[in-house]
Amino acid sequence: MIDYHLHTVRCCHARGTLEDYCREGARKGLTEIGFADHFPLDLLDYEPPVKVTMDGEELPRYVEEVLRMSRNKELPTVKLGIELDFLPGREKAAQRELSLYPFDYIIGSVHFLEDWDFTNPACAGEYEQCTEEEIMELYEKYYLLIEKLVGSNLCDIIGHLDVIKKFGYRPINGAARLMERVTDLLKEADLCIELNTAGLYTPALEMYPANDILESCRRKKVPVTLGSDAHRPEDVGRSLDTALDLLRESGYREVAVFRGRKRSFLKI
Ligand SMILES: [Zn+2]
Ligand SMILES: [Zn+2]
Repeated sequence: MIDYHLHTVRCCHARGTLEDYCREGARKGLTEIGFADHFPLDLLDYEPPVKVTMDGEELPRYVEEVLRMSRNKELPTVKLGIELDFLPGREKAAQRELSLYPFDYIIGSVHFLEDWDFTNPACAGEYEQCTEEEIMELYEKYYLLIEKLVGSNLCDIIGHLDVIKKFGYRPINGAARLMERVTDLLKEADLCIELNTAGLYTPALEMYPANDILESCRRKKVPVTLGSDAHRPEDVGRSLDTALDLLRESGYREVAVFRGRKRSFLKI
């Protein structure tokens, strides 16, 4: 199987070298792994309150290291990816920087609502102050950014589509209307989502995205790929068996793989 969402020690909130992740992937029998460490935010002229990415000057070394791993025939196939934060207004800079490297795929994600790193456990206290209406407003703001990201032409895969649920705060009447619109846009833009198993290990207690969203994507024929979002080598491939079962139950018969930003499919 494949795991397309691996981080490394470079991002400052993960541990383990590239090699550690590759060895673990090999040990677990994965056929293909992809690194998608966080894109350096200083290259987008953004300094978050807490540093969560490598520095810009490290990016060429990250790329070089992943490419070196990809030449090692004893390892699973290694792909070069990156997880780009979507920051509205910085699309051009992102496009320019991304074009400098031979990425196999780009995962586009939203982790910031203005300066709030809402997926960071250290910043999760803010949810507690929110009223029911404010939770709904957060969902609306989040999905508005996702819609902009979908329309931006910056990425191949949308990362952890419903990560706004991470700490278990959900709108009382759900977010079905928002999801209907987002999944339509995904189809229109011919983008892929990931089934990201990390959500299982958060207060949300379910993968990203939730089953109903996954089924809506399947009905609209939005392709899907797989990722553990590992920030520790031992988490490579975590719960991907369960993810595969879920995909099959939802009616998916293949997962997307990428090479040089071209998509193809692997039967499941
Ligand atoms: Zn991370
Ligand atoms: Zn992420």
